[in-house]
Amino acid sequence: MLTVQGIPAFDDNYIWCIGTDSGTYTALVDPGDAEPVIAALHAQGLTPRAILVTHHHPDHTGGIDQLVAHYGLPVFGPAHENIPHRSHPLGEGDTVELPGLGTRLRVMDVPGHTRGHIAFYHAADAVGPAMLFSGDTLFTGGCGRLFEGTPAQMQDALQRIRALPDDTQVYCAHEYTEANLAFAHIAEPHNSAITERLAAVRAARRQGLPTVPAPLGLEKATNPFLRWDAPELLRSAEAFAGRPLTEPAEIFAVVRHWKDTLD
Ligand code: ZN
Ligand code: FE
Repeated sequence: MLTVQGIPAFDDNYIWCIGTDSGTYTALVDPGDAEPVIAALHAQGLTPRAILVTHHHPDHTGGIDQLVAHYGLPVFGPAHENIPHRSHPLGEGDTVELPGLGTRLRVMDVPGHTRGHIAFYHAADAVGPAMLFSGDTLFTGGCGRLFEGTPAQMQDALQRIRALPDDTQVYCAHEYTEANLAFAHIAEPHNSAITERLAAVRAARRQGLPTVPAPLGLEKATNPFLRWDAPELLRSAEAFAGRPLTEPAEIFAVVRHWKDTLD
């Protein structure tokens, strides 16, 4: 069976390691730093055999040089971004074969945070459940800032992610859930699913526990960036904008801008 472990890096990054409960093969997702990866895998007798990259930001790519020098790994990354040592350029609909894991991942183009950002989706199969490695596109409780893309691109990407099954486990690259849900609660104060999740996440963080991954079904119920068609969110966004809003991309743009003003 597939197993996923998160190696913490920097202040709030997770480097996800996809392996199995029986073998020593591991694929690393967004290794922004090499040292914590080498230390954690060495302690467990695991060997990284592939690097998967969602986008070009240094906190996702900074460890690639050293890991490639150390292990000689293939690097799977977005075709339209500058990724060090990239051997396999990827885009929408491509698949990544992970021979040591007996499965494959499907690539989605999810531009917005960066222009060429991709995500890796594992459909449920005999070796593991549905999983999405979303980088800085979908966060638990939130989404990435728009550094390079447009609100319409990001909303389109999130709409395609929202169409994935509810039981998909979302593995994003940062531990931002608590701050994200604090904003979600401001945007939808009467959404009891948000209130309950915020309390649970605060309790987990007080104990130093991770809040990633989370099921996509919970994201659909509580993440304001997947809820452009929720009446209370729409009313809040319209109140913030001071005008009526109709298009999902417009609602998304207002909510993203609103959160930016509070961060
Ligand atoms: Zn980023
Ligand atoms: Fe990041």
